[in-house]
Amino acid sequence: MKIFCIGRNYADHAKELNNPIPTEPIVFMKPTTALVVNNKPFYYPDFTQDLHYEGEIVLRVCKNGRSIQLEFAHRYYDAIAFGIDFTARDLQERLKQKGHPWEIAKAFDHSAPISPWIPLEELPNPRDIHFQLRKNGQVVQDGHTRDLIFSFDALIVYLSRYFTLQKNDLIFTGTPSGVGPVQIGDVLEGFIEGRLMLTCAIK
Ligand code: MN
Repeated sequence: MKIFCIGRNYADHAKELNNPIPTEPIVFMKPTTALVVNNKPFYYPDFTQDLHYEGEIVLRVCKNGRSIQLEFAHRYYDAIAFGIDFTARDLQERLKQKGHPWEIAKAFDHSAPISPWIPLEELPNPRDIHFQLRKNGQVVQDGHTRDLIFSFDALIVYLSRYFTLQKNDLIFTGTPSGVGPVQIGDVLEGFIEGRLMLTCAIK
């Protein structure tokens, strides 16, 4: 199983971190040891003082394929989940300044809590999914997938040029604006279409 992640896929989030709007998808990966399931808590790691949440819609790949054409891309994913792309922002900034890969800031153990799946056919409008991240009950991120710079289908096309997509691969599709730090004791909750999907306590 591969876990792809897309950076800066919402213009308002690229702007809040003073990054340019990308002209092609920014791709990185996390290992399977990043996943956290069943609402297990997240333990604040000792290598960062600035751990950020990024609430994201995650796609589940449902069949194998490579060099997939745009018109067929929608056949390659069948469900979504709410995921958090935890980021050690201080570490990431240092790596970015040196032009180094940012894996240790993004792909560390337990950096990818994920909710159960919702089949796409159960969604009122799979092309515009509303999602929210709440921190201690306050809405801190409020996103609509209609605002994606690169759509689900465009991501399938792009990724499959470089990597064979395999059933059960995951794609974290990017975060809207409102990213920010967490502290020990905070509770994050992820919602899709108003439905509580994920709870993550920071310990
Ligand atoms: Mn992200």
